[in-house]
Amino acid sequence: MSKKIDNSKWRDILSEIEKIVTGVSYRTWFLPLTPLEIDEKAKTISFACSDRFKIDVLNKQGRYIPIFEQCIDKVYGQPYKLELLYKTEEEIDKILNEDNDTNKTYHVYDPDESNEFKEEFYLNPRQNFDNFVVGANNNYAHAVCLAVAESPAKVYNPLFLYGGSGLGKTHLMHAIGHHIMEHYPDMKVLYVSSEMFTTELLQAIRDKSSTAKINNFKQKYRNVDVLLIDDIQFIEGKEATQTEFFHTFNTLYELNKQIVISSDRHPNKLTDLDERLRSRFQWNIVADVQPPDFETRVAILLNKAEDQAKEQNITIDEDFMEVIDLLAEKIKFNVREMESALTRIISFSKVFNQKITVKFAKENLKDIFSVRDVDITCETVKKAVCKKYNIKITDIESSKRKREFTYPRQIAMYLSREMTDLSLPKIGESFGGRDHTTVLHAWDKINKEIKTNQALADEIKELKEYIQ
Ligand code: ADP
Ligand code: MG
Repeated sequence: MSKKIDNSKWRDILSEIEKIVTGVSYRTWFLPLTPLEIDEKAKTISFACSDRFKIDVLNKQGRYIPIFEQCIDKVYGQPYKLELLYKTEEEIDKILNEDNDTNKTYHVYDPDESNEFKEEFYLNPRQNFDNFVVGANNNYAHAVCLAVAESPAKVYNPLFLYGGSGLGKTHLMHAIGHHIMEHYPDMKVLYVSSEMFTTELLQAIRDKSSTAKINNFKQKYRNVDVLLIDDIQFIEGKEATQTEFFHTFNTLYELNKQIVISSDRHPNKLTDLDERLRSRFQWNIVADVQPPDFETRVAILLNKAEDQAKEQNITIDEDFMEVIDLLAEKIKFNVREMESALTRIISFSKVFNQKITVKFAKENLKDIFSVRDVDITCETVKKAVCKKYNIKITDIESSKRKREFTYPRQIAMYLSREMTDLSLPKIGESFGGRDHTTVLHAWDKINKEIKTNQALADEIKELKEYIQ
């Protein structure tokens, strides 16, 4: 006979688990689970998660099953066999809804556990799992990296990470490095950029006086337990480096050592790379990091701001929060840029001894809040056009039909439609209350004309640049 698992029991199990595993493992693998059923007769207990990958890792990795079972044993006072199942979100919702006692109350984890570990010069201590913000954009990559960090060379080997610049690939690699060094102190972990790998190789080859150098190089890279090699796209088109890396890869792989590779592109898109490497990169897991969505961007900025606030003695008040929102809105595709904007505004506020507000941010982060980002209105367009054609604003708004006025007027209408978000009637309104068909007609005329009239096309381009 099976019955629901008591929420209070689940809470107790979680707090037992929390005592044993690290904060990040607890949050990644255990908190997302939903308790299902316990069967007294069969002595089984089941849990589910809507993230198939996480269930796979838990089952495959094997590492957490005994810990989990041990905690269950402790709470129930007798052993149960654990079942971890994949369920869709709808199925889980249904299970949760049958249950009025909410499961959400468990999120009481306090991440303030100071993990100390050996600091190696090549691993940035600030880039660890604890301060990596997880969102839909990187959830999978994060989970894979954590699984690799927890069980090097046991679950996913090689691991290939790819994604655009500034999206956290290097951060994740450093996090893997820290985690392994902390939990497997005997393992030799080596992080290297592909550029450094190439430079070292070339230096070793160049030094023809002895073969010692090249042997040292080989020794260094083939004797590690974990090789983290960043930005592999760098070795595209570099044959000697590719050959050496190919041998390094094979040696490590055969010795069952963990290899983690990052790139700005999927292996298939590394067209200038030896086919043998490209296929090896896809032997196991290829995970991507995507640009974060708005909420994740805010979370990343807030995380960073809190760090700096502590160090620099500043408070994150409502004004500061508005700036964070604004930065998250403006900078969409690069976390590094977002962070640099935040750091700059914090240091400006110190230098000028001024509060961080939206106004202050706009004044001081000109590259981000360039004029282009100030809303363009019909007024800005009209002003620019009048200046160029040396006429008055009143002329452009009037109904004067002389060509010296009608032509700039049409150009201004065209640009207003192109460069503002205003509707045709609204544009008409600001040109002396004209009908929207007039605006449309003007737009149409100029639009056609610039295709054949290069001089006009140039003028329009120039005006656009001026207005922006
Ligand atoms: P990549 O190697 O993909 O170009 P990085 O790992 O260097 O990007 O990330 C750029 C910056 O953004 C780093 O300072 C990193 O700590 C930060 N960053 C990126 N993603 C996140 C994230 N999800 N949470 C916290 N910080 C992040
Ligand atoms: Mg990087």
